[in-house]
Amino acid sequence: MVDTEAMLQLAQLVENAGSLVAVFDPEDRLRFANQAFRAAWFIDDHEQPLWPDLMRRNFHARRGTVVVTQDFETWLRSTLARRGKTGFRAFETDLHDGRWLWMTETMQPNGWMLSVASDISFIRTDERTLRQDRDFAIRASFTDDLTGLPSRRFAMARLAELVGASGGEARDVGCLAVLDIDNFKYINDRFGHSVGDAVLKDFAITLQRHLRKTDILGRVGGEEFLLILPNTVMEDAEAILERMLAAVRHSRPVPDQASFRYTFSAGLAWAESGEEPSDIYRRADLALYAAKMRGRDQLSIEIQPRRHLGEARAEQG
Ligand code: GH3
Ligand code: MG
Ligand code: MG
Repeated sequence: MVDTEAMLQLAQLVENAGSLVAVFDPEDRLRFANQAFRAAWFIDDHEQPLWPDLMRRNFHARRGTVVVTQDFETWLRSTLARRGKTGFRAFETDLHDGRWLWMTETMQPNGWMLSVASDISFIRTDERTLRQDRDFAIRASFTDDLTGLPSRRFAMARLAELVGASGGEARDVGCLAVLDIDNFKYINDRFGHSVGDAVLKDFAITLQRHLRKTDILGRVGGEEFLLILPNTVMEDAEAILERMLAAVRHSRPVPDQASFRYTFSAGLAWAESGEEPSDIYRRADLALYAAKMRGRDQLSIEIQPRRHLGEARAEQG
């Protein structure tokens, strides 16, 4: 039952609250912001900007969030690689107007996000610096320096969350892919380490263009990556990976060697609730091996039947 009066009051209260409140849709477009939020980030009354555009224009106007970086677009990519990837996230941030905020982000599985910030400017400056250093260290441990992608630690923690969510019967929770750049040793040996690094960065940027908000791409080893696709059926996961394979095929990462191209291979596995993350990883890795054996630049899907479908079939028989 929806209590209409309470809902109306809630809307009024939120609009006039001291906390800064906003709602973002799955495309990361701002769909609601109360007065306090609009004032802090310079948003007109009926405007609904995309979050990256909002951050970009405020950065260049030196207002809103203080972003310390020489290269805003790289900062943005690295931040987007983690934004909205966890159910709940809390962090501290400072504004150009001198305020210090405690921000929380709550995600729904359907991709909508509630963002709530409170003013904690009363915390002393020296204490703030300490807390900022701590947050910087945490961020660094979750990020790969070269590509700006989430690290192995971050990606594996998200996979554990995905399969560990609830008890009860096993059910599909999404798909996992292991991605590995083809003949990378040859690329390094033939063209040099700097070209190898350029390929890694290009790979991260190219694939990030094909991610939905809830997808997670992490760098887990030298030229090996993990792609977590929550709430995704195998058919859709295949389509996403085929698009990525095509995009990488068409990419030309070295400007002064226009014909230089590279490819990758991928192994895809189902993820079920209650499974061990390392098991799913192993199955995706086996599929990757098959893709390599079949000639690389392709996707391979695990052949092993799924546990709970096997049980269902047994019951029917
Ligand atoms: P395959 O198609 O079977 O995957 O062959 P491969 O050559 O890609 O695989 P292999 O595992 O033999 O080689 C991986 C190479 O990646 C070895 C290592 O020198 C290189 N590598 C690992 N990390 C980095 C990095 O950060 N930068 C660069 N430039 N090279 C790296
Ligand atoms: Mg490789
Ligand atoms: Mg490898």
